Amino acid sequence: MESQPAEAALPVETDSAPCAELLEGRDVPLGRYTVVRRSLPNKSRRTVGAWCFLDHFGPEDITGGPGMRVPPHPHIGLQTVTWLLSGEVRHRDSVGSDQLIRPGQLNIMTAGHGIAHSENSPTERPPLLHGLQLWIALPDGARSGTPAFQHLADLPTTTRDGVRITVAVGELAGLSSPAVVHSPLVGADLHLAAGAATTLPVDRAFEHAVVVTEGTATVEGVDVTPGSLLYLGAERDTLRITAAQEARLFLLGGEPFEEELVMWWNFVARSHDEIVEARTAWMTGRFPPVPGGEDPLPAPGLPTTRLLPRPRYRAG
Ligand code: MN
Repeated sequence: MESQPAEAALPVETDSAPCAELLEGRDVPLGRYTVVRRSLPNKSRRTVGAWCFLDHFGPEDITGGPGMRVPPHPHIGLQTVTWLLSGEVRHRDSVGSDQLIRPGQLNIMTAGHGIAHSENSPTERPPLLHGLQLWIALPDGARSGTPAFQHLADLPTTTRDGVRITVAVGELAGLSSPAVVHSPLVGADLHLAAGAATTLPVDRAFEHAVVVTEGTATVEGVDVTPGSLLYLGAERDTLRITAAQEARLFLLGGEPFEEELVMWWNFVARSHDEIVEARTAWMTGRFPPVPGGEDPLPAPGLPTTRLLPRPRYRAG
């Protein structure tokens, strides 16, 4: 209602053209027992669509060790996606879920205004643990919604040109996942046989990226191995994907997510104060409990400076 509104600047789409940027992930210790490779958020790209966090763990032989031990901890403002390539994980949460997840199945947990969960290797388990943990930022219209959990044991799959495609989220290759998400998004596992070569139609409005979980895959002419993320930009109609030897990758994409996020610990928010409020709620027992009787994970101390909202893209 300004009397002399300033001219609205048109958004300049300088950062969503097709590209092929190989972004290095970094090793992050998770608890006492595991190191994961984190490729989102990355220094220059914080999100791909609404995908805002990507950890790759294993493959690790957990025969002699504790395996995955993630005690009860809270989330707000996001969905978590657990995607296993080997092994089993038991998920328990504050909406009452108690779910064993196996490779090829999807666990998708919607935090909404607040949820807590634990993830542990079951007592009886296969020796190898290998997988991805991803987060999806919830848009403003969905982030104060009801917490929920969805386990999808049978996802749509198809094989074309030597590539076994499993659609975890969204639509790809004529298949549609029943996973409930809140912004236009895709997430799919591609298992490439030796010599596989395909040209995959993709949504032009989406930006895309791939993370390789096994072997070497060549995507739009760039060799990708585990540990880095290949960011591919938007405005593409197809992706050319080949592999000389057997390889596996996860394709993620979505409409560029323009809401600026404040991410700290397990929270995705819009402001420093919202993070402080969520941390206080967790530390004072105001999140509902997670079944299983484990000691909850205490939140780390807040940084001494105020957390600032960040755009999805940073030049340089
Ligand atoms: Mn979690």
